[in-house]
Amino acid sequence: MLFEVLQDELNTRAAQGLLRYRRELQGAQGTCVTVEGKSILSFSSNDYLGLANHPQLIAALQTGTQQVGLGAGASHLVSGHFSVHDELEHALAEFVGKPAALLFSSGYLANLGAVQALVGRNDRIFADKLNHASLNDAMLLSRAQVHRYRHNDMAHLAQLLRQPNSGRKLVITDAVFSMDGDLALLPELLALCEQHDAWLLVDDAHGFGILGEQGRGSLFHHRDSSGLASPRIIYMATLGKAAGVSGAFIAAEQVVIDTLVQNARSYIYTTASPPALSCAVLASLRLLQKEEWRRTQLWKLVAQLRAGLAGLPWELMYSDTPIQPLLVGNNNVAVALSEGLRTRGIWVPAIRPPTVPQGTARLRISLSAAHSEQDVAQLISALHELAH
Ligand SMILES: *Cc1c(COP(=O)(O)O)cnc(C)c1O
Repeated sequence: MLFEVLQDELNTRAAQGLLRYRRELQGAQGTCVTVEGKSILSFSSNDYLGLANHPQLIAALQTGTQQVGLGAGASHLVSGHFSVHDELEHALAEFVGKPAALLFSSGYLANLGAVQALVGRNDRIFADKLNHASLNDAMLLSRAQVHRYRHNDMAHLAQLLRQPNSGRKLVITDAVFSMDGDLALLPELLALCEQHDAWLLVDDAHGFGILGEQGRGSLFHHRDSSGLASPRIIYMATLGKAAGVSGAFIAAEQVVIDTLVQNARSYIYTTASPPALSCAVLASLRLLQKEEWRRTQLWKLVAQLRAGLAGLPWELMYSDTPIQPLLVGNNNVAVALSEGLRTRGIWVPAIRPPTVPQGTARLRISLSAAHSEQDVAQLISALHELAH
């Protein structure tokens, strides 16, 4: 009985072009990956700097496991907090210009933990409508009252913030919107938070390592506008995207971090991530700071792609980050285009609702510093071919 109900639901999904599939990779992540035995040119990962398979990171992980073993064996508050976790937290805090930082096993858990620890039943959250799913789930878990404002619409947010209420106020935004590639208006958001005595949680999963001087992230991208060093900002970034490893962190004032250690359930009630992973992230931090050429190459490829895709029947959404979405609209058309590229040896995922709003299915092209100009040229010509 239950099985029939589940099967019906799956069939309905399939009929709507909404069934999701996993493709198996053999070998490492990169711009050329082996999927189901075949090699394919990939524009589908968040490995923006090409570090996921970097020999220095792998060496750091190997040396790390020899020194501190593999499993952490316990949660951070029991007996799983290692020196190298602590060293990484200090390095991350300094890198993003905050007094303190706290490591989480993933960005999903960092968002759940931070929001749940900082606001509760009597508080209010103001969130951009296009925020990442993990932030939306975090809001539900916190039990705070939720107000969602139209994407990047500061007037709408101001109107919501003006409504009088007691309790804490927390504004939440992606810094780089993960399915659109555009940027949050951080200076404007901060000004509103100052005006209304609200906190600002910035999820920089896609800006860390990419934006700002030395890849320090979105707060540094906006550094000429005053006050992005504000203690009101609670900064979150992930370590599994541009940094090429795994995990995430929250960086903020010491008292905020101390509060998370006491209250963030997704920090407290889970096994610490393998300490050797922190060794790999430390190596990644050194590389991404030093090797400016990776970001230079990325910007060059972004410009090449945007110029090359002009004149297609689908809208290339406005973005100057490595996330370059081609707005298709219809789910089945998006899937057919993705399939068309696949038969031409190119992997670009079709992103459909509920990940994006109804009627805005898209190809999410993501570029990496490891791509060559020839790779991008190949994608451009394949898309022009498919348009005819
Ligand atoms: C990927 C992502 C996360 C989740 O991070 P994980 O480390 O993959 O769990 C959170 N927020 C945004 C905006 C993301 O893109």
